[in-house]
Amino acid sequence: MKVRNAVEELDPYVPGRSKEEIAQEFGVKKEDIIKLGSNENPWGPSPKVKEAIEAELKNINRYPESDLEELKKEFARYSDVKQEQIIIGGDGADELIDTLAKTFIEEKDEFIVPLPSYMYYEFLFKPYGAIPHYAKWNLKTNTLDLDSVLDAINEKTKILFLCTPNNPTGGLISQDEFRAILNKTNKSKGGVCDAIVVIDEAYFEYSKTNNVNLLEEYDNIFIIRTMSKVMGLAGMRIGYGISTKEIIEYMHRIKPVFSLTKLSYIAALTTIKDSEYIEESIEKGIESRDFLYDEISKMKSVKAYKSYSNFILIDIHNTGFRAAELTREFMKRGMIVRDCSSFKGLDDYYIRISICTLEEDKKFIEVMKEILNE
Ligand SMILES: *Cc1c(COP(=O)(O)O)cnc(C)c1O
Repeated sequence: MKVRNAVEELDPYVPGRSKEEIAQEFGVKKEDIIKLGSNENPWGPSPKVKEAIEAELKNINRYPESDLEELKKEFARYSDVKQEQIIIGGDGADELIDTLAKTFIEEKDEFIVPLPSYMYYEFLFKPYGAIPHYAKWNLKTNTLDLDSVLDAINEKTKILFLCTPNNPTGGLISQDEFRAILNKTNKSKGGVCDAIVVIDEAYFEYSKTNNVNLLEEYDNIFIIRTMSKVMGLAGMRIGYGISTKEIIEYMHRIKPVFSLTKLSYIAALTTIKDSEYIEESIEKGIESRDFLYDEISKMKSVKAYKSYSNFILIDIHNTGFRAAELTREFMKRGMIVRDCSSFKGLDDYYIRISICTLEEDKKFIEVMKEILNE
């Protein structure tokens, strides 16, 4: 059976590895594994979520709500926008990236991604016949190479993906940089095309900045948010997007109607109302990140990138290990780190680690010193 060319040619997405896989492959106990590979919240979900889910279990014979009004209201309050500017995704924010493609992409439209960045954008966009144009992230300064983005924009550009703090580098994009890009992609501002600038704020809480104010100046922005990181609900698959009322309405036409399950809905609603949990997750996350950064910066054979997120990119060129080998050394010792070889724009000598509890952080640093003989 002949599948579509776009499917035939697609590179598979390489996700971070799970505890189950590592337990099997390396014969370590699942409970003892420390996971620093997938940028999750290591402290677990809000304690109120378990109770809320248990109470909701008796209703799962019913379809979920389709309009999700109360949850939209809460996301709007949390983000300081109007409810009509919110759309909710039931396979996490990833579903909204797919919905963006379905809403805007005609075959041979172009999208721009500065590399290295989140690889899922192109994984989701290529099946719709969209063509990637790569710009650059400056690894020396850990900032966006703005000129490379401006140079890539042309009349065929339909979408740009700009991740801030950027995964996997942890650097931020400034509002001046966004304005330069937004002006060039909005004809009413003198731009060369009308394109959607996606601002991926999956990790914005850890940076204590966001770009929602730009929505007052520009009508071509889509902001991506998720419950998978600070909010501790990666396994429940909930994301939301913020844009203009008009764009949100078009996206609702094509988005799957029942993708957010009843249990995910109640988990999201309970968490977004639990401001104490959110605040604590942010503060503990920042403390862990800064601890890891300081400790890794003391080591001679590696370089840590300053991060505004909950993860840190590490340059291992001088260690004598390739990322695949070093990752294996960690896994043998029950620790999962992210081998970044599959990120376009990085060579085979980078790993990424994410925050853990301080106790786990300390263990990680010990193990890293042992492996690298430091
Ligand atoms: C984790 C992540 C997302 C969204 O993840 P979901 O779990 O699908 O909500 C989006 N963008 C970036 C850069 C991420 O790292």
